[in-house]
Amino acid sequence: MNFLRSLFRKSSPALTEAEYIGHLQEAFEAMGDVLGDYLTSRDVGEHFTCRQADTLAFALAVGGQIDAAVALLEGHALGDSEKDGDDHLGGEDFNGSRYLNEVALAANA
Ligand SMILES: [Zn+2]
Repeated sequence: MNFLRSLFRKSSPALTEAEYIGHLQEAFEAMGDVLGDYLTSRDVGEHFTCRQADTLAFALAVGGQIDAAVALLEGHALGDSEKDGDDHLGGEDFNGSRYLNEVALAANA
């Protein structure tokens, strides 16, 4: 069976709240597996804009996929440059974990 079809099949008919939350968690884990993969995060991360990378990292983090959020941000940072006014500077030295913590703290200040 097609993988995506199997995912949709799991979500029908109407779900209970607990089933919905379980599927949502599975979806976040699957998204974290894809976007947080070391090679994928480096291959595709730099092609996202800063806003797109932050948006995806936020979604991953809220979904409990912190390591994937960090990997995606660090992969994305490889393509950022000061010249372009990007937000994630430092290349290989960019620390996605520190950035995520700083942004979260600033948002709650
Ligand atoms: Zn950026």
